Amino acid sequence: MTIEQIINKYKENNKAVNQADLQFLQDVYVFAKKAHGRQKRETGEPFIEHSAHTAFWLAQIKADLTTIAAGLLHDIPEDTEYTIEDIKKNFGSEVAELVEGETKLSKIQYRGEERYNESLRKMILSMSKDLRIILIKFADRLHNLRTLEGLPEKKRLRIAKETLEIYSPLAGLLGIWKFKWQMEDICFKYLYPEEFKTLEYKYEVEKKVERNQYIQKVKNILGQKLNEAGVEFKIEGRFKHLYSIYQKMQKKERKFDEISDVFALRVIVSEISDCYKVLGIIHSVWKPKPNRIKDYISVPKPNGYRSLHTTVFGLDNKTTEFQIRTREMQEEAQYGIAAHWSYKEKDGQGKVKRVEPRWIEEILNIQRQAKDSDEFIRKIKLDVFRDRIFVFSPKGDVFDLPEGATPIDFAYEVHTDIGSKAVGALVNDKMASLDKPLQSHDTVEIITDKNRKGPNRDWLKFVKTAKARDKIRQSTKASTLEQIKRIKNIIPGLPR
Ligand code: MN
Repeated sequence: MTIEQIINKYKENNKAVNQADLQFLQDVYVFAKKAHGRQKRETGEPFIEHSAHTAFWLAQIKADLTTIAAGLLHDIPEDTEYTIEDIKKNFGSEVAELVEGETKLSKIQYRGEERYNESLRKMILSMSKDLRIILIKFADRLHNLRTLEGLPEKKRLRIAKETLEIYSPLAGLLGIWKFKWQMEDICFKYLYPEEFKTLEYKYEVEKKVERNQYIQKVKNILGQKLNEAGVEFKIEGRFKHLYSIYQKMQKKERKFDEISDVFALRVIVSEISDCYKVLGIIHSVWKPKPNRIKDYISVPKPNGYRSLHTTVFGLDNKTTEFQIRTREMQEEAQYGIAAHWSYKEKDGQGKVKRVEPRWIEEILNIQRQAKDSDEFIRKIKLDVFRDRIFVFSPKGDVFDLPEGATPIDFAYEVHTDIGSKAVGALVNDKMASLDKPLQSHDTVEIITDKNRKGPNRDWLKFVKTAKARDKIRQSTKASTLEQIKRIKNIIPGLPR
């Protein structure tokens, strides 16, 4: 990957490019190359290749100049003798801040335990003060995935699992569809090699010729009609990514043939009025399937997605799905914050099946109301994570707590027994009182005494979580009752 390729990609996506911007990218590249020197990655390729690929992916999703530059520099503070300060001095504080955010993100540990995944996803999002930080992470991860072959198996599987559980859901949540499905297909290949190979063979080899021929025929017929109607258009066959086919087969217990026999095309036009024209023309050629016409242009999906959908009995009566949209809608759906996301989660009747955790609901809500992506990410920070902190256990597991939470809240979050037997706490390796408010990113270790009878009722004065409060109440109530019973047994004559 050369800097020229990155620059060309950037030029392709930006109409007004000035010479100074291009020189800036050149300078950043030269600096990154010098900083990484002769370093090689585990795969054996020069390190700068990784930086350049990361930057290229960013250019491809139309990231701005600063983000592409930060992509080129993202591993420098971690892996070379140069610091954030050096980056700031040379390329300004905006680039430096993105690189710094990226360096912090890379320190988060993923240990593969289901229980912590949601907190981890939230923390990563909350740490990305600037949405661009997480974009760089996605691009970085995508290149790492593409070079997994060179890594030891254990590491390879850990990275694939982490991506599938943490990063690809986040890419989906933010509507960065292009990253999401690429990540998923690579992870699928490493985590379920047998299933991947079978599906790949069926879809890419057995069905490919048939599919391409069919799509070509439909294109010809429809193309002619659209030309006659004077509509400017582009028709493309839609490639379904393998992991989504796999998931569909799992979820609905359907056979491969039932899924792969559905052909999918997309018609892209320039005007909204043309979308409806095209829909009418498609229906005049092929009979629509009842209840499968969806107008997400006049009523966009909650996440902002817009398009017309219809399914018809196509050539030779084959089920054929069409999406009809403008170029702008297509852009939004591929790269935009306007997510394509809940799309895959619908059941046959078009209802959303999965109930999302509240924070995701909130994010979707913000997305619906935000004017642009800047506002969107600012609001995520303010609204969703305003009152949450993220703390670590000594092993590196993440816990999500309300602001002002104390070591006792943390202890009950880990386990009821740890809460009720707590006698002290180490916060960042220093002794701390049990009522000390924790800060985001603290590491907390609870010291327990197994002979301790139970929690202290005074803890109720400072705990913040309902869980801690309930557990303390429950066990102190129990022990008060026991005491009364005991007293009644000792003092004769009291009413029983
Ligand atoms: Mn990297």
